[in-house]
Amino acid sequence: MSSSGDAIAPLLPGATIGILGSGQLGRMLALAAREMGYRVHVFSPGTDTPAGQVADREFVGEYDDGDAIRAFAKDVDVVTFEFENVSSLATDAAAEVTRVHPAGRVLHTTQHRIREKTFLRDAGIPVPGFREINSLADLRSAADELGIPAVLKTASFGYDGKGQQKITPDDSLERILENLEGAQGIYEAFVDFEKEISIVAARTVGGEFKAFPVFENVHTNHILDVTFSPARITQEVSDKATEIASRVFDALDIVGVTGVEMFVTKDGDVLVNELAPRTHNSGHLTLDGCVTSQFEQQVRAVCGLPLGETALHSPSAMANLLGDVWQNGEPDWSAALRESRIKLHLYGKAEARPGRKMGHLNASAASVDEAIDLVCNARSQLAS
Ligand code: AMP
Repeated sequence: MSSSGDAIAPLLPGATIGILGSGQLGRMLALAAREMGYRVHVFSPGTDTPAGQVADREFVGEYDDGDAIRAFAKDVDVVTFEFENVSSLATDAAAEVTRVHPAGRVLHTTQHRIREKTFLRDAGIPVPGFREINSLADLRSAADELGIPAVLKTASFGYDGKGQQKITPDDSLERILENLEGAQGIYEAFVDFEKEISIVAARTVGGEFKAFPVFENVHTNHILDVTFSPARITQEVSDKATEIASRVFDALDIVGVTGVEMFVTKDGDVLVNELAPRTHNSGHLTLDGCVTSQFEQQVRAVCGLPLGETALHSPSAMANLLGDVWQNGEPDWSAALRESRIKLHLYGKAEARPGRKMGHLNASAASVDEAIDLVCNARSQLAS
């Protein structure tokens, strides 16, 4: 209904925030919203979901059911997201009845890797070289032009490295294409990065922009493992990353929180890997490490309130708890919490599957090394 240029009154506590999606990001958003006195409705196909457990109301419906989305949107003052792979049908249906932040067109751009990278490249944002892949001929010319090694990803519905293949000189391109199973692909030049970082930031309807300090991310099996901040980068790289993120927000006219994942090359160049138009796993340390959490910031941004201070209280780290931690049965929580600076966050998921994000540990300390040691040591106590 509204674009970021409209002057509209802020939604004050007492208003109802609608969240599409009901996983852990929705749960932590709902908790932040309720702390500030907002009511929260969530919508997803599931019941007793991580977000539904802490919301005022849990709506059950399919994301492509326009009537169900309209019925959900009618009872809330703003709709926002924790799950970004929602169709335009859903975002358009919601926008017929209420404010939607970020706008559906932001999701439409970011949920398809070719659309996303094309948009970013055309906006002058540095991205790795890429080509659209629909056939073996496309794959062969991409390999000629961008070289091998490379990464082939499915254009849609990929996250945490799902649908992703690294191509090396020994691989058969025919075989690589078969693995796409007919899906459209994107061929990306392999970035021999030095570090992976992310910027989580927020922008309001009025155009106020605030970024959290840069997060440095360590992945294992393509899934985020540990994040810490301050990142071990120069001030110049940090400024460059923040400036790129701010340009991304302006170019896409984003209202709300978005995570911008980036690579830092050995030469100190910063390239954008992908955007998540919602809170981001790397921002979980803000819950305990920053003046304002990314979830409170999303509430402020989508409700049109002034943004909160993003500074770190002290160096901080986060370690993800995947379902793998449950391999020997229920983790020994008291062993991890024996270190009194550890903060435990669990998402209320009943079933622990390998690779499933079940919770995370945060810690702050005098140095970033100490904070990393605290969360990693505590995590290792859990499964022993
Ligand atoms: P994504 O699903 O795009 O977030 O990718 C998951 C992970 O794969 C990233 O965090 C990187 O570790 C790695 N990756 C993705 N794209 C590239 C690339 N073009 N070059 C090198 N590594 C990549």
